[in-house]
Amino acid sequence: MSWGYAADNGPDKWADNFPIANGPRQSPIDILPGASAYDAALKPLKLKYDPSTCQEILNNGHSFQVTFVDDNDKSTLKEGPISGTYRLKQFHFHWGASDDKGSEHTVAGTKYPAELHLVHWNTKYPSFGDAASKPDGLAVVGVFLKIGDANASLQKVLDSFGAIKAKGKQTTFADFDPSTLLPGCLDYWTYDGSLTTPPLLESVTWIVCKEPISVSAEQMAKFRGLLFSAEGEAECCMMDNYRPPQPLKGRAVRASFK
Ligand SMILES: [Zn+2]
Repeated sequence: MSWGYAADNGPDKWADNFPIANGPRQSPIDILPGASAYDAALKPLKLKYDPSTCQEILNNGHSFQVTFVDDNDKSTLKEGPISGTYRLKQFHFHWGASDDKGSEHTVAGTKYPAELHLVHWNTKYPSFGDAASKPDGLAVVGVFLKIGDANASLQKVLDSFGAIKAKGKQTTFADFDPSTLLPGCLDYWTYDGSLTTPPLLESVTWIVCKEPISVSAEQMAKFRGLLFSAEGEAECCMMDNYRPPQPLKGRAVRASFK
C-alpha cells in the first residue's frame, strides 16, 4: 500500500517503509518562541520570483502543487539562513478537515488551518532530484494561513480547482507571482529538518514565517473539495494532509527577529 494520511497508511505508519521517519532531524516541529534564540547573523530573505516561470497546477493525490520552470535562475531564494542560490521548484499546501487544525508546524502548540510550503533547491547540485538527499539541498519557506479576510492572490489558485479535482489531474497555471502569497513581514524562525512527506529526506533548511497570511473560511472550505482519489474511484476528500510535530532531538531553532 502506498503512503497517505488515513489510519492504515498515515504518518504513524510511515516508518515501516521509511525508517528515517524516526531520524534526528525530522519535520515538522512545534516552534517554541521563548526557546528560539534571536541570531543577529541571520540575514533578511532575498526572494526573487518571475511570474513567467510558473508552469502548471497538479493534484498529486496528497496535496495540490503549482510547479515552476527551474532550468534558470529567474525565480530564486538567497540569503536568510542559507548560502548560495536556491531555485523555486513548486509550492503546495497542507490543511485540515476543519479550521482548528491543518498546519504542520505549530507555534507553542497553536495549530493554524493551513500551511503553505515554497520548495527551493540548492543550485550547487545539478537538479532538484540530486539536491533532495543532501543535508543542504533544499530550503522550504513555510507560511501559516489564518482565518480572516479573503485572500485575493490565493483566489486565482482556488479558481483552477475545478480542473484538478481528482488525483492525477493537471492544468496550465501561467503568469502567477508566488511572492503575492507571502506575508508583509518576512521575520522567520529557522532550523534543520526534513521533507514532511515520504521519503522524509533530511535535506531541508526550514524557514517558517512568523506572520500568517489570511484566508476566508469560504476559501478554506474550497481546499476540502479536492479529492485524494482518482476519477472512477470512491470519492475521498483531500483534508488532514498534514504530519504532526516530530521530536526536536536537541536541535536549535533560531529567530531572525527579537
Ligand atoms: Zn509541504
